[in-house]
Amino acid sequence: MDKLLTKAQETHNLSKSEIIELLNSDGSDLFYLADEIREKYVGNEVHLRGLIEFSNICKCTCKYCGIRCSNKKIQRYRMLPDDIINLAGKAYDTGFKTVVLQSGEDSYYTRNVMCDIIKEIKKLDIALTLSIGERSYEDYKAFKDAGADRYLLRIETTDRNLYKTLHPNMDFDNRLRCLKDLKSLGYETGTGCLVGLPGQSIESLADDIIFFKSMNADMIGLGPFLPHPQTPLKDCAAGSFDLALKVMAITRLLLPDINIPATTAMETINPDGRLIALKSGANVFMPNVTDRVYTSKYEIYPNKSGIDATQNDIISEIEQKLQTIGRMVSYTKGCRKQI
Ligand code: SAH
Repeated sequence: MDKLLTKAQETHNLSKSEIIELLNSDGSDLFYLADEIREKYVGNEVHLRGLIEFSNICKCTCKYCGIRCSNKKIQRYRMLPDDIINLAGKAYDTGFKTVVLQSGEDSYYTRNVMCDIIKEIKKLDIALTLSIGERSYEDYKAFKDAGADRYLLRIETTDRNLYKTLHPNMDFDNRLRCLKDLKSLGYETGTGCLVGLPGQSIESLADDIIFFKSMNADMIGLGPFLPHPQTPLKDCAAGSFDLALKVMAITRLLLPDINIPATTAMETINPDGRLIALKSGANVFMPNVTDRVYTSKYEIYPNKSGIDATQNDIISEIEQKLQTIGRMVSYTKGCRKQI
């Protein structure tokens, strides 16, 4: 075990069987090392990203996701472009240096509509991340030209068979194509996976980590699978917090200089989840700045926890919380500085 961690620390490389060994370990030494490597490469600053969940309308049928189109019980909403732009402005005024626009795959937001929103927001001195699903190369290019800086698109799982089962109408190769396009267009590209999906093996999680490394992802977001009552997976067990934390910590060992958020899903399954994640390799925090009338409807999984970041003094509140673990809020845009 010690030998493995030393190897990871020195080379930032591990074989699949070594990753599996770490995933099966108790984790404490791993979390400690991931925290050390995080401090060495990306420092003690925590980058804040203001998350705007602007539409829960989605054409996809991902079996785990509460906003899948076949969920008829959920109340749908779609924010108007002007409201999205105003909210981004509010986040900027509050002190956020990055906003993340996330939604279901909603065709209302055509290439032109998105470009108009991006251009308006980019009049502010703020980094802009999109997380709006699979689009064409031409769309991604237009969004980049309009000023978008980053894009998040989780691969969800690299196990092709499991991917097919969970995403009946989707194509794994198209998801790969999207990630390749985003990288080639110069986006800081984020991906990630769900941990503890029904039918997912430890081996396939090791493959996920190897995939993150091989595509040289700039950001990795991951969290435990949480069953949503209005989905076909409603009776399945939730993923384990500890296993998700291990996948995250190993990712930090192999990609020491990337941005890794302490995700909401981590906090939903464990009340201290985000702080624990920040002490085990994470360096990013994504408070939800969406108006409260909408956040409850963007229910990808139930009991989505999270700080309500709509108040003006939210950043000083976060600052205080971070101080308890010896960390501070970053006042930069928090781009990846590749080492
Ligand atoms: N439409 C966008 C955003 C999807 S929601 C896209 O396709 O990228 C953001 C993430 O929430 C998803 O990528 C997925 O990994 C996660 N998610 C969805 N349902 C979940 C669940 N039941 N439990 C945990 N995470 C979930």
